[in-house]
Amino acid sequence: MLSTTPQRRASDAPSTDVIVVGAGIAGLAAAVALASDGAIVKVLERRPFIGGRAYSYPHPTLAETLDSQHVVLGCCTNFLQLIEQAGTSWSIRWYNKLCFLEPTANADPRRSWIAPTFLPAPAHQSLSFLRAPMLDWQDKLSIARGLAHFLRDYPASDAESMATWLKRTHQTSRAIRHFWEPVVVGALNDSFDNCSMKYAGKIFHESFLRSPQAGRLGIPAKPLTEFFEPVVKLARRLNVGLRTNSGVTAIAQTANGRWSVRTGEEELEASSVILATDLRQTERLMQPLAASGTSLDKQTHFDFSHFTAAPITTIHLWYDREVTDLDHAVLLDTRIQWLFAKSRIRGWKPERGSYLELVISSSWPEIHLSRQQILAEALRELELFLPRIRQAKLLKSAVLKEARATFSVTPGLDAHRPPQLTAYPGLYVAGDWTATDWPSTMEGAVRSGRLAAGAVTGDRQQFLAPELPATGLMRLLSRLR
Ligand SMILES: Cc1cc2nc3c(=O)[nH]c(=O)nc-3n(C[C@H](O)[C@H](O)[C@H](O)COP(=O)(O)OP(=O)(O)OC[C@H]3O[C@@H](n4cnc5c(N)ncnc54)[C@H](O)[C@@H]3O)c2cc1C
Repeated sequence: MLSTTPQRRASDAPSTDVIVVGAGIAGLAAAVALASDGAIVKVLERRPFIGGRAYSYPHPTLAETLDSQHVVLGCCTNFLQLIEQAGTSWSIRWYNKLCFLEPTANADPRRSWIAPTFLPAPAHQSLSFLRAPMLDWQDKLSIARGLAHFLRDYPASDAESMATWLKRTHQTSRAIRHFWEPVVVGALNDSFDNCSMKYAGKIFHESFLRSPQAGRLGIPAKPLTEFFEPVVKLARRLNVGLRTNSGVTAIAQTANGRWSVRTGEEELEASSVILATDLRQTERLMQPLAASGTSLDKQTHFDFSHFTAAPITTIHLWYDREVTDLDHAVLLDTRIQWLFAKSRIRGWKPERGSYLELVISSSWPEIHLSRQQILAEALRELELFLPRIRQAKLLKSAVLKEARATFSVTPGLDAHRPPQLTAYPGLYVAGDWTATDWPSTMEGAVRSGRLAAGAVTGDRQQFLAPELPATGLMRLLSRLR
């Protein structure tokens, strides 16, 4: 466990001083790790708020705070450890059961529940699968055959696409539409062609096979900026100097091997710099270094052209009354793929009405539609799942389009995800897009920050949390790897 108080160093050991550029989750995780190890850390963030893509903001006219719902799984051990260190684990609501809702002609939507039972892993969810009406026997058999591929582990290579795998394993079309697609598109935010089987397999191994605990769904029950505030407080307790509105415009190595960082009119110096910035900003800040010819014999330039940014669109709806008894659900056979009843997740009193968020992952078509068009279509689809919503009054609504929400784990991308250690001594990179063996997620971001912190101290694994152990029969199977 990482310390939550700064560690005192032996008097003859000078403290490392580090500047972290970017206060997204990766930057915060790196800063907390290094400061808890006794380093002197400054974080510079260009925006007025922390959290990067995991942010919330007060809507200018709706008198509501908006965010795009983020979820985690029990296997996100580094993210969860950071939240625990900040003392705010209680603000995540945990769910063992997933409800899949399927529209039916002239009747209430059909519910299929996937939930663990008394059976040991990997069979813990099998009984609910057998009972799920959204799939017939052939679909269930093909899913069972498919999941068997990930019993021991998921593929080490990211060469194969999910599209090829689905064909190779002869998945039925309903198994694809009602199981593989909602899980993969929701978790990896892209189409089967653009998702490598390594990362899809990882999701299935962790969510459905490894242990009931690894597959639990955790939902932050507060707007994201508020949710991450305790992490900021933790960083401040560890004496991290955290500055917002401080965009970094240039970095350079000084003659004595230190690093100078330009923000506004100021030049700051440190022995190490971690660029915990997004892809484009990292490229912009690093390009002049390659041009200056430092470390010419080493790889100094990252090739970002292999990364594809994928969009997520969310629709936010406020009603005058309760409209569902579900906290969240997977919606089948429509553009909207996930429903979050945020008023229920956040524990609103029923008289306050309902707040729903609808999520469309991999939302390229919606990027080109107007907000009115997206809203109208979403409301039409929502009625298929919640027929009694027709009696409720829609009080207000908002549509959020995040064009660069995540990067896609396209087949072969691993070869282009750089490690956190760069060719320049004292310069490190962090961010969900760096090599973490995780897709574009908050867990990937925390891991990248901790790996960058480990690269600074010279012990790569130093700050990483242990993985969750496999349970049941999976303990034996994972030993056979
Ligand atoms: C709509 C949406 C839904 C998502 N859903 C989920 C989910 O359900 N579960 C999940 O795990 N993940 C989800 N994600 C992904 C998750 O948000 C990201 O993986 C994670 O936040 C990435 O963190 P990061 O620190 O690597 O990068 P970023 O969040 O991009 O942080 C980079 C930071 O660097 C700052 N910066 C950039 N340039 C400079 C500069 N020059 N100077 C100073 N600062 C700079 C930026 O302002 C930013 O704060 C979702 C993302 C979106 C957008």
